[in-house]
Amino acid sequence: MADALRAIIRDVHLRDYGHPAPGAPPWALNLTVFVEPARNWEVRFVPSLAEQVQAQLDEIHTVAGVYRDGAVYCYKCSSSVCEHATPPTPLSVFGGYDPMGKPEWLELAQLLLRRSDRRVSDLFDDPPRIVCVLMTGHELRQRQLPEFGRSSRSYAILGQLAAGYFAATPTRASAERFALTLQVVESHPRPGLVRVHLNTLARLPDPERPIEEWLASDSGMAIARARTVARTAVERLNRLLDDLPRDAPPAHRRQILGRLPAILRQCAESIERASRQAHRRTRHAEQRRVEQRRPVPKALEDLQNAPTHAFYQDEKAGTYVVRGESGRTHVFNAEGRLVTSLVLTPAQFESRVRMGRWSPIEREQADELRQRVLHAPWAHSAEVTDSPIANKRMPKAD
Ligand SMILES: [Zn+2]
Repeated sequence: MADALRAIIRDVHLRDYGHPAPGAPPWALNLTVFVEPARNWEVRFVPSLAEQVQAQLDEIHTVAGVYRDGAVYCYKCSSSVCEHATPPTPLSVFGGYDPMGKPEWLELAQLLLRRSDRRVSDLFDDPPRIVCVLMTGHELRQRQLPEFGRSSRSYAILGQLAAGYFAATPTRASAERFALTLQVVESHPRPGLVRVHLNTLARLPDPERPIEEWLASDSGMAIARARTVARTAVERLNRLLDDLPRDAPPAHRRQILGRLPAILRQCAESIERASRQAHRRTRHAEQRRVEQRRPVPKALEDLQNAPTHAFYQDEKAGTYVVRGESGRTHVFNAEGRLVTSLVLTPAQFESRVRMGRWSPIEREQADELRQRVLHAPWAHSAEVTDSPIANKRMPKAD
């Protein structure tokens, strides 16, 4: 009797929800049985046994809340409210599942490094540039073992975009930065019903402040707009899924879900476009500010006094960098002309060195640069070049 029931419950579950999460807690099922002594002890299930099981599994899955806004499902804990379900730090993005089905979070910079994505240095530009990474559901699940939710149909991440770093407040303090992950997730809230959600995962530096509040603010407006476009597209897709007859071939469903990557890609493009525009505005404002300050005499003074270990080379830009007093940093081109001056905190300076953008140069090279600069005609005319390179190096406001 117990064996027969076990087979029925298992089959109904597999049909409607796929494999259960590993370590799923025990469920209590109540079955109503009618016994008729007058009819030779006939036993009847009303409604049918399958219907009773199905209705209760349905309820269990709704209550269990496999899908939850702002969180991913953790197969290890069978929960979307455990400590693994949300980003642990503001810089964290979702990196996929580990073999045991535990969500893995990592800093956006780490994710880029792991994928050998050269745009990692853009994150440390000043002001930083926004970088978006698109990942498929397959990529997020590839390390996960089948027994630990890899083939789960009750909850599946179909793809995501990770983006950052955004400024939580209009100030430029790097402690105020955060990353976000936008995921398209498939869930089965009711038997036979497929839902696709667009989930936003983020933790602001102020943990009390919800991400929706940031999205509604001036700083988050462009991102919110990109998300609304994606969300509308996802809703349209849900309506197409609703209209599918229950016995439609799986290929029809796959065809509809096949539009998701394009939705995410468009979302990433509009986030990057909005960020480029914001970046350009900041850059121009600050360029004007530094030009008003006329940093040339300071640059010459710093250059004269700087020890060899304060000289660096930016091979990619073909420029030299000299670290002066009080965070003043001067960029010279190969002809010895001052390209720009900016103020960097020690951490900002060191991050560029660590990222390999600036590398130390030898004493002879440093001496040569010093001579070239001090004997250049411009050094006596106190005039800053407006070479296009100047626009690439962003001075920090003081
Ligand atoms: Zn967990």
